[in-house]
Formats: sequence, C-alpha cells, structure tokens
Amino acid sequence: MAPVAGLRTEVLVIGGGATGAGVAWDAALRGFDVVLVDRADLSQGTSGRFHGLLHSGGRYVVKDPVAAEECVAENAMLRKLVPDSIEDTGGLFVTTPDDDPAYGDRFLEGCRAASLPAEEIPVAEALRMEPRLNPGIRRAFTVPDAAIDAWKAVWSFADGAAAHGARILTYHKVVGLHRSNGAVTGARLRNERTGEELDIEAGFTINASGAWAAQIVRMAGIEGIGVIPGKGIMIAMNHRLVNTVINRCTMPADGDILVPIRTVSVIGTTDIRSADPDEIPVTQDEIDQMLDDGERLVPGFRQQRALRVWAGVRPLFQDERSGPAAADTRDVSRTHAVVDHRERDGVDGLLTMSGGKWTTLRLMAQDIVDAMCRQLGTDRPCRTTEVRPPGSGDGQHYHLGNRLRAREATLRDEQLICECELIGRGRLEETMRRRGTTDLDDIRRSLRLGMGPCQGGFCIYRATGILHGLERLDGEQASASLLGFLQERWKGVWPILYGDQLRQARLDDWIFQGLLDVEHLPQAKPPVEAPGQEPVPA
Ligand SMILES: Cc1cc2nc3c(=O)[nH]c(=O)nc-3n(C[C@H](O)[C@H](O)[C@H](O)COP(=O)(O)OP(=O)(O)OC[C@H]3O[C@@H](n4cnc5c(N)ncnc54)[C@H](O)[C@@H]3O)c2cc1C
Repeated sequence: MAPVAGLRTEVLVIGGGATGAGVAWDAALRGFDVVLVDRADLSQGTSGRFHGLLHSGGRYVVKDPVAAEECVAENAMLRKLVPDSIEDTGGLFVTTPDDDPAYGDRFLEGCRAASLPAEEIPVAEALRMEPRLNPGIRRAFTVPDAAIDAWKAVWSFADGAAAHGARILTYHKVVGLHRSNGAVTGARLRNERTGEELDIEAGFTINASGAWAAQIVRMAGIEGIGVIPGKGIMIAMNHRLVNTVINRCTMPADGDILVPIRTVSVIGTTDIRSADPDEIPVTQDEIDQMLDDGERLVPGFRQQRALRVWAGVRPLFQDERSGPAAADTRDVSRTHAVVDHRERDGVDGLLTMSGGKWTTLRLMAQDIVDAMCRQLGTDRPCRTTEVRPPGSGDGQHYHLGNRLRAREATLRDEQLICECELIGRGRLEETMRRRGTTDLDDIRRSLRLGMGPCQGGFCIYRATGILHGLERLDGEQASASLLGFLQERWKGVWPILYGDQLRQARLDDWIFQGLLDVEHLPQAKPPVEAPGQEPVPA
C-alpha cells in the first residue's frame, strides 16, 4: 500500500466487502478507472464475518421467492467464476422433531417455482450421509448449498479489478464527501495507518459500505435512507461435525443452519436490529441459544469444543419512503436495492447499494454499475458473467484435503508454521511479501493463520518472528503486532470458554504471559486500531 498524494478517478467505490469488490471488478472490466477504498482490510466488515454459506436459495423459497431466485442463479454463477473459493459440500434441509413436516411440501413447491434442484431423500439415506444428524429427523431434502472462503473470493475480485487498473486502498476511511453544484464530486480520506488525510476527486461515487451506508450518505447531507443493521452471531466448533450444510426445513429462524467450512463447523445465526453497526455485543443468552439450536441438529453439540464466537451486521434495506418499517428484521426482504440519490434526493454522482446477500454480490454489482452507466449516459455492457477473475486455480472446487496434499509434497523440506491450518513457511513468507502488511490479522485473513483450535497459540509467535526477519518490522513493532493479534483473537474466545478450549486458553496464556510476558515487552503503538467490529461480550 504505497502512500497516496492527491487522487483522481472516474469511479470511487466506498467499501471493500463482497459488494464493493464485486463493483470494482465489474466497473474495471467495463473499462472505468476505479479506486476502491475501505477503512480497514478487505472483507473486515460483514463479508468476512458472516456464516459462509453459498445459498442454494432454499432458505428463501417460501418466504422470499425473489431472493430465492437470485440465489439460485448466482450460486451457479459463482461456482463458475471463483470455483476454488467454494467447497461443494451440498446441503440438506431436514425436518427436526420440533418442525412441522407439512412445511416440506411448501418447501418443495417453492423450490420448483424458483427452479431450484431439490429432491426428497429417505431419512435413512440422510443419516448415512451425516451420521451425527439428529436420528429423530422426519424428512430430508438435498439442495446445492456450498461453503465459501469469503476472504479468498473477495481478494480474487479485487485482484481482478487491480489487474484492470483499479487502485485498492485498504485502511483508508472516508471521513467526508465533497459536493459541488448538487453533485458528489469526491471524498476526503484518512489513512488509518498514518493519520494522514487526502482528497480524492471522483466522477462518480458508489456507496457499497453495507451496514454503514447511511453514515456515508449523511456526509452528503442525505438523511433517512433505511439501512437497518441486523446483527447475527455465529459460533465455530472445533471439528467438521457434518460435511454437508444442514438447514432446518422451516421458516427462516435463529440457529437453524450448520455450515462446514474448512476444518470447522459454524452454527448460526440470530437476527436482531442494532442501532449502530459498530456496537454489536454478543450476549450469554445468544450463545446459549445457539448451542441449544446446534443440539437440535446434532445431538451432543454442547459437549463439542467451541472455538470462537463473533457477530456481523446485515445491511437490510427498508427505505422509510417505501412503507412502514417491519417490526422484525427477519421480515425484511433479503433482496437488494440500488438507491438512486438523483431521483430520491436530487444529488447527482452518487448511488448506494443496500440489502442483498454475499451470494448475490455479482448481480448487485451488475445492477449498480448498470445504473451508473445510465446516469452517465454511456453504454458499456457488463462482462462479469463471462470473465473469471485471476487466481481461480485450476477451475476445480476447493476440497478439504487440498492443503494436506500440498503439505505432504513438501513435508521434509519446509517448516510448518501453523499446524492447525497446515501453513508452511514458504507460503507465509510469500503472503507477507505480497500483502506488504505489518498487521498479522491481515495475514490471518489471507491464509487463515491462527484460526484453528489453538487460535494462534502455537503459530503466531513464529509468524511474528518471520515478519520481523523479513525486515517488515523492528522489535517494538513486532511485539505490538503480536499483542494486537492476540487481543483480537481473545475477544472472540473468552465468551465461550469451557472444557478443552478453556484448557487451551490456559496453555496459550502460559506461553504468552508466562514465557514471553507479551504485555510488558517494549512496544510501538499498534499499527491500526481495528474498527469496533469484534463482538464485545456483554
Ligand atoms: C450473521 C450474518 C450471517 C450471514 N450469512 C450469510 C450467508 O451465509 N450467505 C450469504 O450469502 N450472505 C450472508 N449474510 C449476508 C452477507 O454477509 C452480507 O449481505 C454481505 O456480506 C454484505 O456485504 P457488503 O460488501 O455489502 O458489506 P460489508 O462486507 O460490511 O462491506 C462494507 C465495507 O464498508 C467499509 N466501510 C464502512 N464505513 C467506511 C468508511 N467510512 N470508509 C471506508 N470504508 C468504510 C467497511 O469496513 C466494510 O468493509 C450474512 C450476514 C450476517 C450479518
């Protein structure tokens, strides 16, 4: 990330989550000059803090058929575009003893209407597929759900945009929007690493800041756009308790999906209106509820080792001008909306994207860049259905055994740095050089470093030493980066400490406090204050 003086661009994209990366990729492919800015790392907002499910659409077929149809089409599209970010786990919708078996008929009918390939299978077959599933289930349906590596996919789109000339500025926060003659003409940015401020002139601005969208438009004097932050919590369990995405076959509710991602399984989620997208506390009640919900799907769930809890915020769209607000955030549609500020507020040069799903990022990007082209009076067709972003591997889906196979090839030649996620020294050094970051949490997102059972306990001091050895950091900066990483991990670990994970935390504590005394090492100021998105346990 080179220092930037004054900047000028055709299109400024605010927000580097799934939507913003998709928009940057789409606009760059159409030949626009693009700058993408995010106040933190890419996907550090909701797009890296979600459930990890590439929706088949099954969840919405009864309640939200338009969202279902969008998911059906975009699920198939993303499988083609970023195959190696997707594990084709398949999905099951199951009727637990607490669910009404008749819902299964409405579900099948909805799947047919949305052209979603779903099939009822015998319960015995479902239990053969997933032996830990509740043996009391009464019906089971297969669907093409899958698991996504969100960080990998978002970086694929951002790298693709960069390969077409886009500039990606992480850790650049928009602190003001410039207006001239009734139009937004650029923004004031603050470099969150250095505190330096700079201005960017932009021909057009796309607000893809998700749950923060209302904060951004307020900077242009626009009030009242109805983006409701809908908070949800998720818990990662130590193992793949299932290998297929398991959904309860019922109206969307809390804690009704279990997603196997890489080496863990994630139970979620809740949906609670939040006043501020940066204040998303996780309560003990929510944790208990999630564990009980897990028990309904997989008996013995509570006895399993829970690794970590986190929360994210949905950018649900309900404009006050489009009718009375829904009392329950679950009743707000999961479709997306392009907010046209010319039409709505008389402000040119600005569009806001709101609502939607991670799964529908490509379609959302297409819709908003189409809307921008209409306002600019230019005809540049969307190409994102045909072109695959770079770095999508060999066109195969990710398989759980991939890392182990790669590791076995270098078993005797290379030091293993992260045992849980099988990260060798070569890959770690290559990523540190490529990302050019001094923040170990950025490296975590790129490689999943420290995301396994020890939560960084065994790998992160090694990684810190390597970062230091590569001369990216001096001693004081290295200590600060290490401490910053440990503090971020700790926020998600301590609310669910019990059993084996409590023992692990004690061991980590002995290593870092007892042996290394990390809190008393001479330290530089941490490179960046992470925006308050980690759950603050209440
Ligand atoms: C609990 C939960 C579970 C979910 N599960 C799924 C799922 O399984 N499958 C699915 O498809 N969808 C799921 N979703 C929905 C999905 O995660 C979101 O719709 C999607 O990630 C939103 O992406 P986004 O890019 O719009 O927002 P974000 O990813 O939040 O990106 C917005 C970005 O804007 C940046 N930003 C904010 N303010 C500023 C500023 N002032 N200057 C610069 N940058 C700024 C933020 O740092 C952030 O990176 C889930 C959502 C939640 C909350």
